[in-house]
Amino acid sequence: MPEINEELCPLCGRVLADPISRHHLIPLSKGGKDTPTIAMHKICQNKIHAVFTETELKNYYYTVERIQENEEINKFIKWVKKKELSFNDVSIKKK
Ligand SMILES: [Zn+2]
Repeated sequence: MPEINEELCPLCGRVLADPISRHHLIPLSKGGKDTPTIAMHKICQNKIHAVFTETELKNYYYTVERIQENEEINKFIKWVKKKELSFNDVSIKKK
């Protein structure tokens, strides 16, 4: 069996490719400075910050499983799976 050592994006499940961002599950501005970060596609991180406010992230959406439960994120994952691995959408604006 070939060894798979490619890291996967925890949000969309695709292989990680640049541009990559490190997502703080607890936002920096909400005391997340020394908390673990997870590597994900920049577009996936941008989408999280477009859908949720930092308060929502801190209060409820601090696990990838909870983020994925969101309907808008769900639609985004289905959409982004058809895109190039390095696809980035600069039109996604932070909430
Ligand atoms: Zn991703």
